[in-house]
Amino acid sequence: MDYVRCPRCKNDVPVTYLFCPYCGLDFRFIVREKLLATLTVKDRLNRIHYLLRHPIIAVKHIAAAPDSLGPLLVLALCSAALFLKNLVIYMIHLKASSLSIGVMLTIFLMSLVLQSVIWISVAILFHITILIIGGRGTFGTTFSILGYTMIFIGFGHLFSLLLTLAAGVSSPLNPLPAYSYAPFLIITAFLSGYGYSYTHLLRKVTSISAVLTATAVFIMFLYIL
Ligand SMILES: [Zn+2]
Repeated sequence: MDYVRCPRCKNDVPVTYLFCPYCGLDFRFIVREKLLATLTVKDRLNRIHYLLRHPIIAVKHIAAAPDSLGPLLVLALCSAALFLKNLVIYMIHLKASSLSIGVMLTIFLMSLVLQSVIWISVAILFHITILIIGGRGTFGTTFSILGYTMIFIGFGHLFSLLLTLAAGVSSPLNPLPAYSYAPFLIITAFLSGYGYSYTHLLRKVTSISAVLTATAVFIMFLYIL
């Protein structure tokens, strides 16, 4: 069997151990740091791509070393989708055929801010949920995993855009059916919950069901709004 030397107590520990049996040092942290240090931009893009093809395995990989650059790339993609949607709604609403640079910039910034607010508020909701059910882990980890799985909310923007286009001309005043986001929010919540079972030391079923319940409450809240 291979051994590694514990950096704290200097004892030799089998590589399969997650914690040092002598001093209790958390080795997962060391593995995570090593993984994070080697992640390139291309790796982050691959993580996003992988998330669309094999979401469960991808989330497990992300949970092993949650980074912050990947979620920022997802934020940019989701904001772009939301920008597109808001642009179309604006044009339908005002029956405008062309827009000035100033208006487009305003709509872009609005979309970026809105997407960031969604990310932060849902992350707070998920983190509180995880803490309530006894999970242990940092807010940064909660924030990062949601940041990745948020890519599905980006698809929600596109789906919502299609609904707007389908209903558009007949009802331009009601272009934002909040419930159209429900399936995408549920996918995001399910995958986040799965990831949190690794990062916050919880049973999969507990973590996933808690995050899904919090999301259901959130969707009802959106519906009431
Ligand atoms: Zn040790």
